[in-house]
Amino acid sequence: MQMLNQINDIIISPHFNLSEFACPCCKKVMLHPLLLEKLERLKKILERPIHITSGYRCFAYNRKVGGVANSYHCIGLAADIKVKDINLIELLAYAEEIDFTGIGFYEKKNFLHLDVRPTQRTRWKE
Ligand SMILES: [Zn+2]
Ligand SMILES: [Zn+2]
Repeated sequence: MQMLNQINDIIISPHFNLSEFACPCCKKVMLHPLLLEKLERLKKILERPIHITSGYRCFAYNRKVGGVANSYHCIGLAADIKVKDINLIELLAYAEEIDFTGIGFYEKKNFLHLDVRPTQRTRWKE
């Protein structure tokens, strides 16, 4: 069924497609508009493509990748990103400018976790 390949293949903002946020195992997806809006703003100041390495995760997939049990990825509030040709510290400074409420700095794996949790501003490093 060729048409199943098109599932979630929908342009949802100037630089993102819904499929980029879908769970890799089941293609289910949840995405908060505020997360998308902030990622668009980040993309605008970066002037480089943002690669979403993990968006929505179903609970099974979240367990598989060792995510925390109450992960914001499981409710569509978080995305992990990689950006080429920019070091992670510089990328962090840009993300701080957009003021995501949750920012995780993953030095060894070279990515940032960004989320729009409705609670307290949280920062961590791994
Ligand atoms: Zn899944
Ligand atoms: Zn994450």
